[in-house]
Amino acid sequence: TRTPVNVTVTGAAGQIGYALLFRIASGQLLGADVPVKLRLLEIPQGLKAAEGTAMELDDCAFPLLRGVDISDDPNVAFDGANVALLVGARPRTKGMERGDLLEANGGIFKPQGKAINDHAADDIKVLVVGNPANTNALIAQAAAPDVPGDRFTAMTRLDHNRALSQLAQKTGVPVGEIKKLTIWGNHSATQYPDVFHAEVAGKNAAEVVNDEQWLADTFIPTVAKRGAAIIEARGASSAASAANAAIDHVHTWVNGTDAGDWTSAGVVSDGSYGVPEGLISSFPVTAKDGQFEIVQGLDVNEFSRTRIDASVKELEEEREAVRGLGLI
Ligand code: NDP
Repeated sequence: TRTPVNVTVTGAAGQIGYALLFRIASGQLLGADVPVKLRLLEIPQGLKAAEGTAMELDDCAFPLLRGVDISDDPNVAFDGANVALLVGARPRTKGMERGDLLEANGGIFKPQGKAINDHAADDIKVLVVGNPANTNALIAQAAAPDVPGDRFTAMTRLDHNRALSQLAQKTGVPVGEIKKLTIWGNHSATQYPDVFHAEVAGKNAAEVVNDEQWLADTFIPTVAKRGAAIIEARGASSAASAANAAIDHVHTWVNGTDAGDWTSAGVVSDGSYGVPEGLISSFPVTAKDGQFEIVQGLDVNEFSRTRIDASVKELEEEREAVRGLGLI
């Protein structure tokens, strides 16, 4: 029998956590033959709700679930972690300045990065979901100097999936036949969903759509502002789709991308496409043998260049801000 994989989830008692844990325990994160142990991290006020969720996990009698531990101490929750999903974060509240938001999240992601550094397993893979995800990932990474930097990633897979779905609806082709879509930059309103290299049923997506105005005025803003549209409609922020994207991200990271396709993930820049080295930015990526690789050599047209640059500029500003705060 296989040794269980330790999966740590922070903010486990939140909305996304609730949509995520059952899918991890059922085998959808790592595979139907991989036993898992869940380690839930919550703040003290969240512990009781996390216990309730753990009771429900017990009641599902998932054959792959080999235990659920709950703690409010990152040193305990990340002990032996092979996969860490950092979901809990300090949301932006009304009137909050970006500096305050980054500082509050520094207080969360810095100690978590240190705990990962000191206690996680050697093969640790970290996905940051909690916003501002790219910069929170940078903070955690900086606090974990002994962990290879490329183990820290940020989630743009939800944006990717949203873009797939919008393009499928526009072109009338099933999502499964759309390939090589890319989200560039920050997981924020400046993100750039790029269809110029995408394929719709084997044809170039930009040519199939053949409507730059639709791209600029409908597609891009619909994808970038989808989170707000869901809050407006549901009265609560997206949770199941965010959890689904987290599952997709880790599943791809561990199990690889299909030949002839790629996905999007926030990964450490190696300077590709003019994105300054070290920033955690979304790129087109393939995955193989448990490692993401940035797809190289794509032509970036003028339409794309402006938009990638704008999002990357925002990431640089966030990095400067957390540097100024001594968080990295
Ligand atoms: P959610 O579970 O709904 O969201 C958690 C985080 O995910 C937020 O930062 C949210 O950012 C982010 N997120 C990223 N992408 C999306 C998306 N597409 N849609 C929605 N959210 C997205 O928040 P809850 O308030 O329900 O739960 C948070 C939990 O985290 C609470 O139980 C709290 O106690 C806990 N927490 C735990 C910490 C810890 O473990 N140390 C630290 C801080 C909080 P945004 O709000 O910008 O959408």
